[in-house]
Amino acid sequence: MAKNGNDHRRQPRIVVIGAGMTGILLAVRMQQAGIEDVTIFEKASRLGGTWRENTYPGVACDVPSHMYTYSFAPNPNWNELFASGDEIQAYFEQVASDQGVQSRIHFEETVTHCIFQENHWRVTTNQGREIAADFVFNCTGILHRPVLPDIDGLDRFRGPTFHTARWDHDVELAGKRIGIIGTGATAAQAIPELAEVTEELVVFQRTPQWILPVGNRTMAPSVKRHLRKHPASLRRLKAFFTWFMSQFLTKAVIGYKVQNTIFTWLCKLNLRWSVKDRALRAKLTPDYRVGCKRIIVNTTFYPAIQRPNVSIETEAIEAVSESAIHTVSGKQHALDVLVLATGFDPMAYMRPMQVLGRNGQSIDQAWEGGIKAYRSICLPGFPNNFLMLGPNSPVGNYSVIAIAEVQCDYLLQLIERWRDGQFDTIEPTTAATENFRNYVKSGHRKTVWVGGCNSWYLDQEGSPILWPYSWRQWTQEMATPEMADFNTDAS
Ligand code: NAP
Repeated sequence: MAKNGNDHRRQPRIVVIGAGMTGILLAVRMQQAGIEDVTIFEKASRLGGTWRENTYPGVACDVPSHMYTYSFAPNPNWNELFASGDEIQAYFEQVASDQGVQSRIHFEETVTHCIFQENHWRVTTNQGREIAADFVFNCTGILHRPVLPDIDGLDRFRGPTFHTARWDHDVELAGKRIGIIGTGATAAQAIPELAEVTEELVVFQRTPQWILPVGNRTMAPSVKRHLRKHPASLRRLKAFFTWFMSQFLTKAVIGYKVQNTIFTWLCKLNLRWSVKDRALRAKLTPDYRVGCKRIIVNTTFYPAIQRPNVSIETEAIEAVSESAIHTVSGKQHALDVLVLATGFDPMAYMRPMQVLGRNGQSIDQAWEGGIKAYRSICLPGFPNNFLMLGPNSPVGNYSVIAIAEVQCDYLLQLIERWRDGQFDTIEPTTAATENFRNYVKSGHRKTVWVGGCNSWYLDQEGSPILWPYSWRQWTQEMATPEMADFNTDAS
């Protein structure tokens, strides 16, 4: 453990895995807290996480941009109400550069193993580097491992085939017949863009989605000028979006009847007004409650699906052949390009990295009986090892930046205690972890996520991996660590 000459307290050696939104956040906040020995490993050649990986046409945030910012880096310059992926990527690169954390990142270096030995972590990378750390922060994201559908013959298709998170920009789409599988948040953004350029677009829908009619808006130059000149206005705008999202959208999905009724009516009216054709409307009408799957925020999907060059196929896919998708009734859709908008494995977390805690226990073994983490961030048997945006941290349709900042403040309090010499290692007790799990599970019963649909929110047992209470409750409970819930060790 190093010591800083200007500070009588000890300095932790910190490894941050991943330079996406949470990794950059931690690096900046540690720097602000005077923690100097921070090493960040990033598997790719650029930072940005999900915004680096997702470059599909139409990629954008569905949380208002002015809310989707770090508290220490407000941005009056957003070009749109819902910023495009490119602009968000540029924001993270700018923040990392302004805050001087770029130089701490080791790019194209994947952490392969984290092993707890003799009260510290041995972190090994694919470059053969091995370093010791007092704390490890897994900033590996939630939705980063694409899921490819298990469809017979998918690998036989001769044309270009790619997942939306692996978009092949070399493939010419103009004038082509494109099939897109999936109608989630990603597809809802990509379909209107594809519809503009393709000869023919066939949308393979397994389950329809509820769509909230909130459109994007360009921020006028005068508005941006005003926000630049008046930081208080920018703060008020962020506060307004924060209030709106936490009081309405988040509450609508966690059991508040009035809010849910409002959004249900908005989604139903949107469908009714936007799609006049009864047969098509029937195909697009979900049979589950609004919010059970993530609510799509969009005004372009319904117009796109009604274009003459776009069709929707709701029959199950039986197989893919060299040049077509075949449905169960024998229909055949001849295609040139296949786009897989089939989502991600949200349970991957820090894997495939090998994380071995006390007594060589692996993370897979720790999660054999189901994925869990005390307060979403740590596990018994894995001291000083923390997970950002872990299980049960996403707050319904809320900004993950705000969530990560709360987690970061909480974790910095633990680090400060370590620096004061209160302990060398810290891990939650098994009882506290189980209590937290039961507490979260009991809250899920009244949410809409268990409202009869299948979604990426649900784990193997059908339990949502989201926070089932309000944003306010989240911030209150995360304000100060409950030290009685931890086991600590001092040498
Ligand atoms: P998703 O919501 O999991 O949607 C996957 C889609 O693929 C669903 O329509 C699913 O159908 C379909 N699918 C999967 N396997 C299939 C198969 N074998 N055959 C036919 N259809 C299949 O994934 P996503 O759209 O990538 O979105 C994931 C999450 O990313 C979102 O909920 C959101 O949190 C985030 N996201 C956010 C934004 C944003 O604006 N901030 C944008 C994009 C994504 P079923 O519904 O029947 O399973």
